[in-house]
Formats: sequence, C-alpha cells, structure tokens
Amino acid sequence: DDNNHSGEEYLFKIVIIGDSAVGKSNLLSRYARNEFNPHSKATIGVEFQTQSMDIHGKEVKAQIWDTAGQERFRAVTSAYYRGAVGALVVYDISRRTTFDNVGRWLDELKTHSDTTVVKMLVGNKCDLENIRDVSVEEGKSLAESEGLFFMETSALDSTNVKKAFEIVIKEIYDNVS
Ligand code: GDP
Ligand code: MG
Repeated sequence: DDNNHSGEEYLFKIVIIGDSAVGKSNLLSRYARNEFNPHSKATIGVEFQTQSMDIHGKEVKAQIWDTAGQERFRAVTSAYYRGAVGALVVYDISRRTTFDNVGRWLDELKTHSDTTVVKMLVGNKCDLENIRDVSVEEGKSLAESEGLFFMETSALDSTNVKKAFEIVIKEIYDNVS
C-alpha cells in the first residue's frame, strides 16, 4: 500500500446514535462532505461514510455509521453497533426530551458494544441559542458523570463538527497505538 509505508492500517468504526431529528445525518454530511440539508428526511441508503485524517503522519480512516431512521422505531440493530470503537451520542439542545433520552442510548450502546468504546456526548444545534432548552452546564455535567467527552456543535454553521469527530478519532488512535 503506497499510502502506508509503515505497513500499519487504521480503520475505526464510529457510530452516531441519538433520537430522531437531532441532526445525526447532518453532522456526518457536514464532516464528510461539508454539506448541510435543511430538509433532510430519514432516507434509506448510505450506511456509512469513510473519512481520513492524518495523525502524526499516519493515515487514519474513520468509517462513520449513520442510522437510516430506524431510531424512530427504537429498532437500531446489534449489527449497527458491531465492531464500533467510537460513538457520538447526539441530542438537540433545543429539545429537552432528546437530552432526557441520552441515558437510554448509552444503555443500548453498553449492551451492544465493548466498554472501551470512546464516547462523545454531542449537544447539536447550538446555533439555536434563542430556543435553547438544555444548558451547556447540564450537558457538561452529564458527560462528566458518565465519563464521556462533551461538545456542543452546529451542523448548520459548522461549529465544532470537525473537532468532535477528530477528538474521538484521536482518542481511539491513542488507545490502540
Ligand atoms: P437525524 O434524524 O438525527 O439524522 O437528523 P437530521 O440530520 O435529518 O436533521 C433533522 C433536522 O434538523 C433537519 O431539518 C436538519 O436540517 C436540522 N438540523 C440538523 N442539524 C442542525 C443544526 O445544527 N442546527 C439547526 N438549526 N438545524 C439542524
Ligand atoms: Mg438521519
């Protein structure tokens, strides 16, 4: 492999979970393609996108999985979680119920994956400050008590999107290298 003179390859599976319409698909499209869709529907289709980043001169690939809307029916399957080494657990800062459900998603993640999975709690839609329903402090405090990284993001205006994914990828890399 010409791109990998060391002979080592890094491919990390990362899953995005959280309630319907919190912005999971848009976080992925913002990160992988720098695209945002204001009218996105839960489309059946792309299972994952692969995005590369450079860490200390090594090419590290993240295979980032997005649900196809199954979360509406609470029917995300174990196949979705299989082999995941990272997870973004997303809520919408303008809808408290999505924050209240984070615990459920963490339980589901625990059931289906390894305890060593790197987790980031993501409060998305931080551009909606005027209708904020969950404070930054609440997000931080939940993350601290559950041992998660934490970041507020906006897929709409790009705030912290790249950063959130890259923190997770770097942490996974540090754990395995
Ligand atoms: P998913 O069901 O979790 O995949 O959510 P989507 O990515 O489909 O987004 C649901 C809705 O929220 C869509 O109308 C998006 O345009 C909107 N949305 C997603 N991210 C943001 C964001 O950061 N800010 C705002 N204001 N809207 C967002
Ligand atoms: Mg979606």
